[in-house]
Amino acid sequence: MKDIRHWIGGKPSDRPSERWGEVYDPATGQQSGRVAFATEADVDAAVASAVEASKTWRFASLAKRTRVLFAFRELVEKHKVEIAALLTAEHGKVASDALGEVNRGLEVIEFACGIAQLMKGEHSENVSTDVDSYSIRQPLGVVAGITPFNFPAMVPMWMYPIAIACGNTFVLKPSEKDPSAANFCARLLTEAGLPDGVFNVVHGDKVAVDRILDHPDIAAVSFVGSTPIAKYIYERGTQHGKRVQALGGAKNHMVVLPDADMELAADAAVGAAYGSAGERCMAISVLVTVGDAADKLLPRIRERIARLHVGPGNEPSSQMGPLVTKAHMARVRGLVDQGVAEGAVLVEDGRLLDLANGAAKGFFLGPCLFDRVSPDMTIYKEEIFGPVLSVVRVSTYDEATALIHANPYANGVAIFTDDGGAARKFVNEIQVGMVGVNVPVPVPMAYYSFGGWKASLFGDTHVHGREGVHFYTKGKVVTSRWPDPRFRGVDLGFPQNK
Ligand code: NAD
Repeated sequence: MKDIRHWIGGKPSDRPSERWGEVYDPATGQQSGRVAFATEADVDAAVASAVEASKTWRFASLAKRTRVLFAFRELVEKHKVEIAALLTAEHGKVASDALGEVNRGLEVIEFACGIAQLMKGEHSENVSTDVDSYSIRQPLGVVAGITPFNFPAMVPMWMYPIAIACGNTFVLKPSEKDPSAANFCARLLTEAGLPDGVFNVVHGDKVAVDRILDHPDIAAVSFVGSTPIAKYIYERGTQHGKRVQALGGAKNHMVVLPDADMELAADAAVGAAYGSAGERCMAISVLVTVGDAADKLLPRIRERIARLHVGPGNEPSSQMGPLVTKAHMARVRGLVDQGVAEGAVLVEDGRLLDLANGAAKGFFLGPCLFDRVSPDMTIYKEEIFGPVLSVVRVSTYDEATALIHANPYANGVAIFTDDGGAARKFVNEIQVGMVGVNVPVPVPMAYYSFGGWKASLFGDTHVHGREGVHFYTKGKVVTSRWPDPRFRGVDLGFPQNK
């Protein structure tokens, strides 16, 4: 069994730990390691290391900072299969999905390699006689990231490559459920030439998180996780004067109009609902079928579910792996039971999944499909975060949008139709942060920003893209006067344009 320790000052920490968390292989149900849980003093040590590193890193030239990121990009590319294997081993997602996660993280590193373009300010000559004005963006200092279990490599990469490229130093508190990828990437950053202390990892639970939120030397916190915790992070962090972006949970709807290409829609629904066992904040969890769309779509979805191969993530034939923990599996199963009890029609019952060999001991649940779900049912109201797709049948397009607007979450949404006008209307009027047209999981590229609306985001800045750069920098405007030495004299009047 391996021990996973904090990463402070460019190396694994040798600070003794009294509290540890258990790390499991979800495919076998066996414990594979334990992770140190930070005390307040451990967090303080990581922050002190980041403060020290900040004194020089913020003055490192753009060229020096981006050279490290280019080297890091090469190392992640070289080791991506190893990183993906770590994700499979602790999260459970299948190998191809894990590799996809690393590839999407790489896109953000590549974006951060171009930071010099993104940090350029503006300059105005002669705003007054002999007076010029220009704007610059400067790093905040020490910033922190607190991340969820479902993308242990990619979600931290939404944050630290950009923060570091902007000249900040970073403290990451990854999920305690799958902590190894964070340390692996920390090692690669050091190998890439990042000075010690610029990137630190503290592992743990609420103790570590609360110290981060309260620490006077941390200027900003990026959080991704569930909505109740996101709200808490936002409130406590901002009370301490920090800049906070806190991305929360989701309940993503896919609207299918009767004119949609039903083969395409069925492929999309199955991929988006059951990929990564539904443990994606952009997973589709509700299909909103308009008119007779359900009658055409459901048989096609069921055919595809019947062909899905569920199994350990490291087996090449597996398309869907286990859930992350035993407790999470029990919660999702409980919600399926509740859906049945509340009257939804369970047309595909993943609880009956029967896995041969050792996999039976893992945290598996097969794909579940509910028809005739209504908005008052628990399976509609709660974020399930598992392989459970609910079909809500409505009669009109307007009913579909009203349903979506009544939902507290607003992370992602998709519409499937062959009618360009209907799609355009939907894009224009739907109150959701990320929208797909015939695309079920519309995760923006790194050079756009990722984030939902309503209960899916607390704060007003999305991650990566321009908003990410904005979040990790603060603006300064300089007004400078280099007067012609021929003109001198005291002027007590208010500065005005001359
Ligand atoms: P979580 O909220 O339980 O945990 C997220 C982080 O918060 C972890 O680092 C965890 O250690 C910490 N944490 C947990 N409980 C805490 C507490 N009481 N006080 C302080 N810190 C605490 O989320 P999770 O289960 O790891 O991840 C799944 C959730 O994340 C889902 O709700 C999913 O929708 C959401 N998510 C959202 C996005 C997005 O972009 N909006 C992306 C990925 C995941």
